[in-house]
Formats: sequence, C-alpha cells, structure tokens
Amino acid sequence: MGHGDLLGFVRISLEEATGRPVVTLATETYNVNRAPRGFPVATVTAYCTDQKGRPREVAEIRTRTGISIFMIPAETYPGHINNLYVIDHPTRPILVDVGSGLATTDRDLDLGLAQARSRFGLRATIADLAEVVITHAHADHFGNAHRFHRLGVPIAVHDADAHVLARFDERARLAASNLGTFLLRAGLDHLRADRFLALYRSGKPHFPDLEPDRRLGEGDAVGSGWPVLHVPGHCAGQICIAVDDVVLVADHLLARTTPALSPEWLAPGCGLTPYLSSLEKLRAFGRFDLALGGHEAPMPDVSARIAEVKAHHERRLWLVLEFCRPGPLTVAEISRRLFGQQRGYGVLLALGEAAAHIEYLHTRGHLAVANPDEVVANALAAPRFRACGVPTAPLIEPLAVPVLDDSPTKP
Ligand SMILES: [Zn+2]
Ligand SMILES: [Zn+2]
Repeated sequence: MGHGDLLGFVRISLEEATGRPVVTLATETYNVNRAPRGFPVATVTAYCTDQKGRPREVAEIRTRTGISIFMIPAETYPGHINNLYVIDHPTRPILVDVGSGLATTDRDLDLGLAQARSRFGLRATIADLAEVVITHAHADHFGNAHRFHRLGVPIAVHDADAHVLARFDERARLAASNLGTFLLRAGLDHLRADRFLALYRSGKPHFPDLEPDRRLGEGDAVGSGWPVLHVPGHCAGQICIAVDDVVLVADHLLARTTPALSPEWLAPGCGLTPYLSSLEKLRAFGRFDLALGGHEAPMPDVSARIAEVKAHHERRLWLVLEFCRPGPLTVAEISRRLFGQQRGYGVLLALGEAAAHIEYLHTRGHLAVANPDEVVANALAAPRFRACGVPTAPLIEPLAVPVLDDSPTKP
C-alpha cells in the first residue's frame, strides 16, 4: 500500500467495493477493423469478460509495430481481479505488476503464462524476465514481489512508492495511526472509529521489507526503452508506461469505474488536485490507440475516457456543494449523502472519496469551516463545512497548458 493508502489491502474504487459474483457473459475486441489501410493501430484478441466487463482470460495486445503485450487477469483477493501484463521482447521481456501474495494470484499468473505460450506463442518464461515493474504500491499490485525477488528478477518501482516496499511494517503502522485521526475528524464517534480501525488492521497483509532494485523517476524507461510517466493522485508513486501506441495506465484510468482517492492532508501525493493534474499529464503524454488498465477492460479512446472521468468528478463536486448549502456538514455526513449506507471497507472508501472532494472545494474557497474555534481548540474535532456562494464557472478548471513537468504535490 502507498503511504496514501487509507484502506489497506483492497483499494480500487468505491464501485468495486460493492461486488457481485463472477459469470462469463461476453467477448470483446477492439480496433480489429479500425485501422485504415497503411496505418496500423494496436489490436486486442477476443477474450471473455464477467458481468462487470472485467477480462477473465488471457488476451494478446499487439502494438502498431508488432510488440506483443499479454494481459493476464489474476484474482488477487476473493472476487478482486487485477490485470498483470507481460511485455514480450526477445531480450528484454518485463512483467508489469505481480498481484497480491495470495495463492490465487500465482495460480492465475502461471495458468495465464501457459495459455499465452500455447495460444499466442509467448517465448519468455518467468526465468527470462529482465525486470518486474510495479505500477504503484498498493498490495494487489506489488504484494507478490517477493516471489520474483527470490528468483533473482530485479524489482522496479517509482521513487515515491519505494519506501512502502522497503519499510512495509513501519508504513502500515503509521497509516493506521493516521487513519484513526482521519476517522475522528470525519465526524465518527470513538466507538465507530475504533471499530473501523480494527477492521483495517485485521485485513492488512504483512510483507517482509523488500528493497527495490531500481527506483524509477520521470524520464526513465523500462524494458526496451519504454518511457515511464509519473501520475500521482490515486497513489503517490503511480506510473504509466508507453509502448508504441499502447499505454499501460494501471489504476490511473479505468474503463468502468474511477480509482479511489484520499485527501492530500492524509496521504501526500494522493487527492483530487494531483489526480486531475495527472489526467491532463496523461492526455499530453502522447496519442494512444489503446490504454490498458490495472483492472477492467482495455480502453480504445483514452481522451474520451479522461473526459468522462473529469465530468464525473465535476458532478460529484457540485453535489457536495448542494449538500452543504442548507447547513454545515461533517465529512461523514457528506459521505453518507453521496454514497448512501455503506458497509465494512465501503465506509472507508466512501469517507476517503468524500474527503478528497471536500478538500478540493475547501482549498478553492467554495466551502468554509463553520466551527473553526472548535477545530482549533481540539485537533480531533470534526470540521463542519458550509457552502460559500454559488460558483459561476466549472469547478474543475480547464488547463490551458498541458502539464508536462513533474509538478510537486502540496505537503
Ligand atoms: Zn488496483
Ligand atoms: Zn491502486
């Protein structure tokens, strides 16, 4: 988990928290007939999905120049599916993400590799991997790294997330302590806060410390010169990887849901402001024919999906303002109005998501704290937010200039 991880081990999105059983229903293909003559674009072979549109069998993606990427769905926690990717190359094959430490991950990864060999002619085996690249330090993406470390495969992760692997126990304990403060300041009473903290601690996996072999930064490349883009927001060390006209976006952009967010004050490098900035950064990264997420289906139109996700957050911001107009509300009260009655980890996801949107509005002056004296006198008192006037412009500012530098996030 990143130090921004509010929830512990399964952390993809609020929508994902309300899961249903998996059944195979559909087959999807992308781009197969899209390429104009003489202008090849990336293609994806047909694969089965479940009712949520999540891939459930191996597919081969071929980039414009013919590089093969194998998408291997793996169950990382019960009912929770990650996409792991092998990017094939005669001398520099790499594995992008390794799943959790659960036995189902290894089962699905090994089966997927065998299928990729028999059906698509994958030549590389695990022993041939030049490197494992972790897209971000959430446990469903990196928890299985020790298997590859023991095999002698070098592990690479962005510098902002490297310490999560290197000092896992320390980070987990600090994250739990910060979560306790967050829950009280969100407006939960001590009894409920303690109950959710216990839930968080009981579900938290434990990994031995693992010093990554390489700390990635902006401008670095993996595999055969495939560039890395740093896109904080969902996680402080989140990266994307460009391979020809295909971009591996991990949890930064998903086909069906939006990645979970936490407020920046709780999780530096996370939050709605860096997330939106990183969406623009991805848009400016290049023109891609296909985006491959860490969960869910491939996305054939990256710009359109970015626009949908931004519109979704714009609507959510307006909703928060509406709720706070009649009278001041705590984070927990706003969360309840936004997401209804949640259970278990769903409560924590909903609180983090609500707090990220409240923080965005508060730092821009659209919300004010109605009880500042109480909050100043008691650091654990819950701020109550009221709406300030009616904004006359969209709440998400359009960025005239693409963000191309690696902008530091606020402390
Ligand atoms: Zn994920
Ligand atoms: Zn994640």
